[in-house]
Amino acid sequence: MKHTLSQLSTNPCGVDDYDPNAMSVEQARHYIQQFLSPVSAHEELPIRETLGRVLSADVISPSNVPNYNNSAMDGFAFKFSEDLKTFKVIGTAFAGKPFRGAVNAGECVKIMTGAMLPLGADTVVMQEHVTVNSEHITLLNDVKQAANVRFAGEDLKLGQTVLSKGHLMRPADLGLIASLGIAKVSVYKKLKVAFFSTGDELVSVDKPLNEGQIYDSNRYTLFGMLTRLGVEVADLGAIPDNVQQLEDTLIMAASNHHVVITSGGVSVGEADHMKALLAKHGEVLFWKINMKPGRPLAYGKIANAHYFGLPGNPVSAMVTFYQFVREALMSLMGATAKPLPTFSVECTQAIKKATGRTEFQRGILFEEHSVWKVKPTGLQGSAMLSSMSQANCFIVLGESVGNLEAGALVKVQLLDGLI
Ligand code: AMP
Ligand code: MG
Repeated sequence: MKHTLSQLSTNPCGVDDYDPNAMSVEQARHYIQQFLSPVSAHEELPIRETLGRVLSADVISPSNVPNYNNSAMDGFAFKFSEDLKTFKVIGTAFAGKPFRGAVNAGECVKIMTGAMLPLGADTVVMQEHVTVNSEHITLLNDVKQAANVRFAGEDLKLGQTVLSKGHLMRPADLGLIASLGIAKVSVYKKLKVAFFSTGDELVSVDKPLNEGQIYDSNRYTLFGMLTRLGVEVADLGAIPDNVQQLEDTLIMAASNHHVVITSGGVSVGEADHMKALLAKHGEVLFWKINMKPGRPLAYGKIANAHYFGLPGNPVSAMVTFYQFVREALMSLMGATAKPLPTFSVECTQAIKKATGRTEFQRGILFEEHSVWKVKPTGLQGSAMLSSMSQANCFIVLGESVGNLEAGALVKVQLLDGLI
């Protein structure tokens, strides 16, 4: 069922099944998804500049790929016939330099990989599968009709939708579009995302620490995750817990960006400034999610900007980003939702886990006797960024999962991928 943001933010008790203080991971994803519609502005860009961008229109093939029948092997092209085994060599066809004549029964043309099949020929035999004597070749084995031929349009057909609107462009797609001779494609404009940290204790990396202070790391992990996602980032700094400064930064951020992300100050009882400000300037939902790490999460709108309030703890901020914000930003970028693949693998260590919440433990996938298995990284504290750095996956333990013995199957989500 669909709800408006104001319904949920002003009268949460009036909505069935909506409990901001006990929200499951799935429910939270579902609610956020209801309020997202993609940016509409788009631009036409040269192929290379579209890497990591989202197509705003289908790409239609203007031709067949390949454009002509050609050889998949170095060999000899001939017209197939059940009872002919010996052929006269009448010329050579190179890739880019076709043989201009026609091939009649009993004739063949020496042909290179990628070269156009000469008129009359329909079959290619590999050069290793013939004997050559002066002007003639003889087949050593039976060859099937149409063997070793790549037919026009067998990869892509003229008029076919090659890539659909919403497709996130990867290296293969750049090549695919180039193979069609298309120089520019239409993509959604980059999403503008501003972020800032909140907290009196935060210090920037180039300053000395006083007692009770810590370095602000969330702005760096956020920078990394957002940049990888392909959005335009604006780092607005670390803002102390001061109403006026927070208010100014929030308003400025919301007026110039599609999305505002803050970290810290959304847990209970703390940084009431942020809560009051968000209520004053927007419609924001504050949730306690049944998950570990990353319990508090705020989502809403400030003016036209989407707002995400992440927990302050560095691991919680990253986990919440990966589990909620990443997917939401992809939707706003116009990308067709694709769930992250999860795999079941054996966990080689016992895991302590309370039922009733989803846990995202940091894990290390490793190979043992040719089988991939997983083990948790050591300490799992939500302030310990080293666990994220060591990890190459999340071990995702659902709400109903309890303590696990060593050897149990667990679900994992990869942090790494091919470039
Ligand atoms: P908060 O959510 O503001 O209650 O913060 C929870 C914990 O995360 C506290 O220990 C904060 O000091 C820490 N924290 C908050 N923001 C950051 C940040 N940007 N970088 C590193 N630690 C932070
Ligand atoms: Mg704080």
